[in-house]
Amino acid sequence: MEIKDQYDVIIIGGSYAGLSAAMALGRAMRKTLILDSGKPCNRFTPHAHNFITHDGKVPADIAAEAREQVMKYPGIDLMEGIAVSGRQMENGFEIVTGSGRSVYSKKLLFATGVTDELPAIKGFEACWGKSVVHCPYCHGYEIRDQQLGILANGAMAFEFARMISNWSSRLIVFTNGASTLSAEQAEKLLQKKILIVETQIAELQHNNGYLDNVLLEDGHTIALNALFAKVPFSQSSNIPHDLGCRFTEHGHIEVDDLQRTTIAGVFAAGDNTTMFRTLSAAIASGTKAGAMLNKELTDDSF
Ligand SMILES: Cc1cc2nc3c(=O)[nH]c(=O)nc-3n(C[C@H](O)[C@H](O)[C@H](O)COP(=O)(O)OP(=O)(O)OC[C@H]3O[C@@H](n4cnc5c(N)ncnc54)[C@H](O)[C@@H]3O)c2cc1C
Repeated sequence: MEIKDQYDVIIIGGSYAGLSAAMALGRAMRKTLILDSGKPCNRFTPHAHNFITHDGKVPADIAAEAREQVMKYPGIDLMEGIAVSGRQMENGFEIVTGSGRSVYSKKLLFATGVTDELPAIKGFEACWGKSVVHCPYCHGYEIRDQQLGILANGAMAFEFARMISNWSSRLIVFTNGASTLSAEQAEKLLQKKILIVETQIAELQHNNGYLDNVLLEDGHTIALNALFAKVPFSQSSNIPHDLGCRFTEHGHIEVDDLQRTTIAGVFAAGDNTTMFRTLSAAIASGTKAGAMLNKELTDDSF
């Protein structure tokens, strides 16, 4: 496919947030390039939930349907590849792809998501998205009332345990090392019969990603159906940082209510801007970014 080099908007990241923005821009007849490296963060999970009209569908199927609908708009081009660098120019931006090609636009949208940094526990990666999950709204209902674990420590473990106790009363908190829960927090958990295990985890024993046991460093095993885990993340693209965008203390790209970053002409949407990681939120912010990009393009020319 012939890719035109000059666009109104380049969207980096063509998943849920990026495609939503592209739909708004396509319908506004803006020349838009979506550049996507094809690695959405939910690619490890077999079913997506908590998203009306798509509840229980395969995530890749939702994205494929979205792509098909977006690509019907003639102003939209899709390039498979990675954006490796970017720079501000007099009247816009240059983005350089992994194959060394330069593309240009008046505005940029980063819908690049985040990369989950999984702990180096044997079996963790194989279970991620299947029986090791990040979000009770996305995956809690399917494992309700089962024997569940929480991998977290301190205040985060306490808050997570309080929340997850709504899905199951059979809960164990794995602090994976010395507990940093306060005495009061630990007491409250124990009152609710939520066990606290401090011994380090050696392995998650599983069958095709579905947990059977947690094997501890001391050789004990604990039977478990699923584990909730809050894992650290990093931004999937360095370009917002290189362009000078400001970040929040949690590591998200700072945006205002209209999805504008702190650099004029640069927008961001989806997981890279918020700790509220869910498809509907990513889609909503992408739609808003698309409309606001179109408004800025109008403001610049009329
Ligand atoms: C395991 C797991 C399960 C989940 N399950 C659910 C669920 O059941 N229900 C729910 O509502 N939410 C779920 N979520 C959350 C949901 O998947 C995210 O909120 C959503 O994918 C965010 O969309 P996004 O477009 O911001 O980012 P992503 O979907 O992560 O997409 C980012 C895109 O940007 C591309 N990209 C990144 N950097 C570059 C670059 N430099 N150049 C080109 N392309 C780039 C990536 O390849 C990717 O295609 C889950 C998340 C995880 C991790």
